[in-house]
Amino acid sequence: MMSDQGKKTFVLKGIGVSPGVVIGKVYRFDPLDAQISFYKLHSADMVPREIERFKNALKESSRQLLEIQENLRKTKVTEPLYIIDVHVLLLSDKKFINRTIKYIRRLGVNAEWALRMTLDHYKQVFEGLEDVYISGRISDVQYVIQRILRNLSGEKREMVWDVGQEGVVIVSHDLSPADTAQMKMDKIVGFATDSGGRTSHTAIVARSMELPAVVGLDNVTRFVRTGDDIIVDGTSGLVVVNPYPDMLKRYEEKKRHYDEAKDEYLKYARQPAVTLDHYTVKIGSNIEFVEEISSAVSHGAEHVGLYRTEFLYIYRDDLPTEEDHFNNYRQVVEEKNFSWSTIRTFDLGGDKFTKYQKHAKEMNPQMGLRAIRFCLREVDIFKTQLRAIWRVSALGRVKILFPMISSIEEIREAKRLLEEARRELVTQGVPVAERMEIGAMIEVPAAAVIADQLAKEVDYFSIGTNDLIQYSLAIDRSNERVTYLYEPLHPAVLRLIKRIVDAAHEAGIRVAMCGEMAGDPLCCPILLGMELDELSMNHLAIPRIKRILQQSSLEESRKLLAQALSYKSAAEVRAYVQNYMIHHFPDEFQKRDL
Ligand code: PEP
Ligand code: MG
Repeated sequence: MMSDQGKKTFVLKGIGVSPGVVIGKVYRFDPLDAQISFYKLHSADMVPREIERFKNALKESSRQLLEIQENLRKTKVTEPLYIIDVHVLLLSDKKFINRTIKYIRRLGVNAEWALRMTLDHYKQVFEGLEDVYISGRISDVQYVIQRILRNLSGEKREMVWDVGQEGVVIVSHDLSPADTAQMKMDKIVGFATDSGGRTSHTAIVARSMELPAVVGLDNVTRFVRTGDDIIVDGTSGLVVVNPYPDMLKRYEEKKRHYDEAKDEYLKYARQPAVTLDHYTVKIGSNIEFVEEISSAVSHGAEHVGLYRTEFLYIYRDDLPTEEDHFNNYRQVVEEKNFSWSTIRTFDLGGDKFTKYQKHAKEMNPQMGLRAIRFCLREVDIFKTQLRAIWRVSALGRVKILFPMISSIEEIREAKRLLEEARRELVTQGVPVAERMEIGAMIEVPAAAVIADQLAKEVDYFSIGTNDLIQYSLAIDRSNERVTYLYEPLHPAVLRLIKRIVDAAHEAGIRVAMCGEMAGDPLCCPILLGMELDELSMNHLAIPRIKRILQQSSLEESRKLLAQALSYKSAAEVRAYVQNYMIHHFPDEFQKRDL
């Protein structure tokens, strides 16, 4: 089908992870663009110097690879050695080198840009190959070029990336925290990516920035070019490339409806979430950036239920100082509209890495040295953060939250370091709160199973369903191929959550939920039936969740939960809950929405 301008129209279905409709222009983001500067060599005598710079970077890259190989040899790992051989060979490949030098010489461009052109050439050649295995080896060329680029920049390059136009939709294979860190967010109106799921980084960033996003599209990058027209419908998970006029009109209408409905929901946002039979659920917001505070307040957040502090580490070359932490956290803690702020200690690893984490690439980072494990290993980095959290505790009510706890030893060690940090500050005469509530995230199945014991160690729990579901159902949360198995209503997940809530209440502590499930309207009455004390979510979800809670009763929801727990399969639970919602909330849920 052709659009008005004669461009081909494509409609692609993915996973809508951040609601809303946006109509804009495509910016096709390739992570390599971020690293590649372009400049012209002004005089002929700059050419030999540029070639020399390129050759030095080649030499340095070879040296590094051989060193890595040598170290690997000592560890008796054999498989990657052959790949490194391929990379080293490529670095001395005459055709590869001469092509790049030719671009520098003939076009008078810097070595980085010449490399970019060489890569484009190889991409074209590889794309034309029939053999899927060989065409996939373009990744080796990419890897080598990335290493040369890093060496050309001496690691200290400027990473600011500018989309250069207003109102663009970022289309990319995937986006890592390092990619989004370089983007000027004020120019971006939406996202569409090939991979990812509901809890992948792109999804979380899009929701926190209130930008429509569709992920898991498989191959949207193949169908678009920078400058194409695109519609991203994050509510229904559709992306339209080069829409034809009728379609555009329909989507403009849809966008208007969506924006109006959003305003309607906001009316409920400022009211507390009290059920018809007077049970109150405290509603908090998950934040990642201080810039989200005002939007969280206007959407009805009563507190911050989860501040993901790892983003403080990701957006920089060096480590944040105690002062950096302090100045950042005080902006959250001093917000008068929040009853308290839950600061989660950094959860690095998994899908979020800093430049500092130079350790070997892990085969399975989601189960690797992440979150509290990393903190207990890198005690100095951890204590810098702990000290800053204590310092802001003197300015407002702060709760600290430790991620990825899987054993009693871990929580005890984290508490010991926290106490050590407090004593140091007190000795130095630095003001800190009398006491700070300590929480454990329950997001590893082991922690759910020993929740009764963990409950004796902390003041509250916060259930992280994103990871709890990932680990209990063995589904990589960033792998779109298994997203279809990601099911919060799976009987195993429901039983685990029930177990955690009951253990907390038996021990007399409060229990919150801060995973994405907390903001899912369909799960809301189930969670009410569990008697969760607090729900924390992306702030866009708050008005709708409050409205559902205000129209629910605890008693009814307990019955719903009991019935849901009696089913054997997720499909049965889902069908039952959907039916319940359509009948009890006809204005909220219509068959077509579910
Ligand atoms: C979770 O795992 O549910 C959670 C809230 O933490 P994160 O998404 O940051 O891993
Ligand atoms: Mg988590």
